[in-house]
Amino acid sequence: MNEWDKKAIKNIQTAPQPADGFIRLSGPLEHDNIVNGDGLRAVIWTQGCPNHCKGCQNPETWDFAGGFEIEIKEICDRLSKFPGQAGVTFCGGEPFVQPKACKEIADWVRKNLGWNVWSFSGFKYEQIKAAGGDAWEFLKSLDALIDGPFILSQKDLGLKYRGSKNQRLLHLKLGTGEILSQE
Ligand code: SF4
Repeated sequence: MNEWDKKAIKNIQTAPQPADGFIRLSGPLEHDNIVNGDGLRAVIWTQGCPNHCKGCQNPETWDFAGGFEIEIKEICDRLSKFPGQAGVTFCGGEPFVQPKACKEIADWVRKNLGWNVWSFSGFKYEQIKAAGGDAWEFLKSLDALIDGPFILSQKDLGLKYRGSKNQRLLHLKLGTGEILSQE
């Protein structure tokens, strides 16, 4: 394990969490989005990111005290009013630094709306797995993960849903987190 892995794991395990029953977001929910996963999707923009990638398009989402906290049940209620969505995607910020809140929404959406669930992360799959705990539980609740930091020198606007060549689109086995396929 290299220093980057150790730092990432520590960042996952020590990030400040929102109050129980709340999630910290950077902006309003979106719907009918077609650029953050397959089909029409709702998008949840989380607040707080320790990765600080050079060239990040959303640096205003880095501050863990920025954005606003909102009740998870309010988010679920708003999502339920979006018709015709295939799923929901968690974007950031960094969803995996508030994994308990994200998992709660992911589970509710799957059970009550029948949607699939995707997430972006600036961490790598292997780092999330090594961090364990709530982060790994959130990952196990996903159908797909787009992982890895944005690396400016590897920027490629032709990639599906990704900004740089190092990032992977991983299709996951629900409940186990096993990687089924990779794009
Ligand atoms: S992980 Fe995403 S939000 Fe965080 S710095 Fe990198 S590109 Fe920006």
